[in-house]
Amino acid sequence: MNDRKLYEQILGVTDPWHVERVDLRLEQGEVLIHVKGGVGAEKCPECGRSCPRYDSSERRWRHLDTCQYRTIVVATIPRIKCPEHDVRQVRVPWSEERSRLTALFEALVIDWLLATENISAVSKGLQLTWEEVAGIRSRAVARGLKRRGRADLPASVGVDETSITRGHEYITVVNALSESRVLDVIDHRTEQSLDAFWTQYEPSELMKVEMVAMDMWAPYIASTKNHLTEAEGKIVFDKFHILKHLGEAVDKVRRSEHRDLSKAGDQILAKTRYLWLTHPERLEGEARERIDSLRWGALRTARAFRYKEHASRLWGYITGLEAMAPWRAPLQARTDSSRCSNDQAVLVWRNQCRHVRHHQRHVRVREFTHSAHQETCLWLSKPAAVS
Ligand SMILES: [Zn+2]
Repeated sequence: MNDRKLYEQILGVTDPWHVERVDLRLEQGEVLIHVKGGVGAEKCPECGRSCPRYDSSERRWRHLDTCQYRTIVVATIPRIKCPEHDVRQVRVPWSEERSRLTALFEALVIDWLLATENISAVSKGLQLTWEEVAGIRSRAVARGLKRRGRADLPASVGVDETSITRGHEYITVVNALSESRVLDVIDHRTEQSLDAFWTQYEPSELMKVEMVAMDMWAPYIASTKNHLTEAEGKIVFDKFHILKHLGEAVDKVRRSEHRDLSKAGDQILAKTRYLWLTHPERLEGEARERIDSLRWGALRTARAFRYKEHASRLWGYITGLEAMAPWRAPLQARTDSSRCSNDQAVLVWRNQCRHVRHHQRHVRVREFTHSAHQETCLWLSKPAAVS
C-alpha cells in the first residue's frame, strides 16, 4: 500500500475525494496531505444535487499527528450555487462543517475531555487554544442533543448557567437531576433562554415537574413562574448559593451589632469577620479558641451563625421530615426575633422550609453544586464521521 492509499484509509477519504500527494516537510516537522475532489464532489450540502461551481478556496484541517509530525490536510474546497439553497460550501467526509480539525482529531479531543473534564489541560496537551477546545465541546453537546431529539420531562429539573468562553458568554444547561442527564443546552442565561426550554412541552407535560433546582438568578425564577403552575413551591435553590447568602446574612448581622456595641465602647466583635465566615473546624489555635468563646454566646451574630450551621446540615438528611425538625426551630426564632434585620436570610429559610414540606416524599434534598453540574455538562457526542 502506498502512502496515499494509507492516508485515504486513515482519514476516511472516500470517492469522489482522494489523496493526491503527501508532502513530508521534515524541517518544519509536519506532514501535508493534499486531498482533491473528483467528479461528483460538487454537490449541495442541503439537498445533495450536483450544482455548478461558484468559486473555491484552499482550506486546512489539523489531523492526528503522524509519529510526532504535525499532520495537516490541505484541500481546495469548492462552493456551489444551488438553485434552491444558493451559494454553499460542499461537505467533506473528513470534517464537520466549520471545523478546522478533522473528525478523528475532534474525537480525540472529546476523549480527552471525557477523561479530564478540564478544557485547559486538553488545550495544553493537544496544543489547541482554550477557545478551540471549548468550541469542540459546545458543538459536541449540541450535536448529541440534536441527534437525541427532545427529552422527556422528568419530575426534578436542574437549571444552571455556565460560561463557554473565558469572557462572559453564557449558556443555560437544563439537567434531569435524578439521572444526571442533560436535557437541553440553550444560548445565554436570560429569561428567554429558559422560556425556550419550557415552551417545547405541552401543559400536561409541564404538570409533571415537581422540583426545579437553580441558583438565585432572577430571569430563571421569572421564566419558571411563567410556565409552571404553583412554581414558587417547586423552585429550590442550590446549597452553594444558599450558604453564600446565609454567610452574607451573618456578616450583615455582625456589622450592625458591632456598630451598636462600639457605641457603648464594647469591641468584642472587632476584627472577627474572618472567624464568622470560616467553618470552625478549619480554624486552629487562637482563632479557634476565639470563635468557640463567641459562637455559643448570646450575641445576635452568634445566633445568626448557629442558624447558618443548622442550615448547612440540611443536605445531610434523607427525608424531608427528618430535615424539618432542626430546621423549624431556628426559623421560628429567626422570624419571631424583632432584632433580626436581615430579610434576605429569612426569605431563604422560608423558601427552603416550603421546599422541604413539598418534598417530604422525595428521597433526598439534592445537593446541586457546580462541580456536579460540570459532570453532567459533558454529555458529548462525537462527529458523525467517527461515531
Ligand atoms: Zn440545494
